[in-house]
Amino acid sequence: MCQTCSGLAIEKSGSITEFGAQLAKQYSDRGSNGFQLNNRSWLEKAEETRNRLDIPEKCPHEPYNNETDRCIFHLTEEERNELGVSQSDVETAFIERIKASSSGNTREKNFINTSFTHLDLRYLDIDTSGNRPIDIRFSDIDGLYLDHTVLYEQLRLDYSTINDIKIDSSELLGGLSAQEAKIGTNEIKIKNNTFNNDLNLQGSSVSSAKINLKNNIFEENCILTNCYFSIQSNKSIVGDKESNITFKGSTFRGNARFRNINIEFSSETTSNIGK
Ligand SMILES: [Zn+2]
Repeated sequence: MCQTCSGLAIEKSGSITEFGAQLAKQYSDRGSNGFQLNNRSWLEKAEETRNRLDIPEKCPHEPYNNETDRCIFHLTEEERNELGVSQSDVETAFIERIKASSSGNTREKNFINTSFTHLDLRYLDIDTSGNRPIDIRFSDIDGLYLDHTVLYEQLRLDYSTINDIKIDSSELLGGLSAQEAKIGTNEIKIKNNTFNNDLNLQGSSVSSAKINLKNNIFEENCILTNCYFSIQSNKSIVGDKESNITFKGSTFRGNARFRNINIEFSSETTSNIGK
């Protein structure tokens, strides 16, 4: 019988795992009428969130070897060091896995609750098997780079922390979802791309000196509802002095949902959105 990786477990030895605690924090009591007492345990909350967000109970990848119960993507830093697995080994495995043909009955493109240093997908044309998204929710990504990249399936980065992101001259046929994500970098560049499906950053927190969303074509919706932007003017920026957030030259063929956006400047109080 093949073993499964424990990377998505919410409970271990009777207590909640770190991932379980993360899920429990996302629990919302939206079903109640406000009069019910919220007496659910952390585990119940984690379970509820897992169901709501359709997160599988088991990671689809097999343990790295028989010294661990975790796959290459879920190895802890300590385990990676012990087993001699480098970050670039993890990234190579990621690209191999998303390109591999699927047996059809598992979600092989699930990389939920993982961490990557550089996820470098530049100059790759990736048509994965099946239409399921490339699911990297609840993960830590130090740098995500797409340049002349073609992705056929949706890239899901919801609830993840992304330190640097550059997406240039790429085609995202399935769109990009980074809802409730934390994105912090000196300059965000998402420019010259075609999004054939939604770009959805709903509820995300973005901390950056400049947010460059120029010359994109949004064939479907561009959703920035409830986003929080913290403009860090003290960080050095090379180049022009245009708007802090700019969509200049972009085409919106679907809806642009910019409701309830919060913008804070580290040294000013006025907002400055260019379009
Ligand atoms: Zn795993």
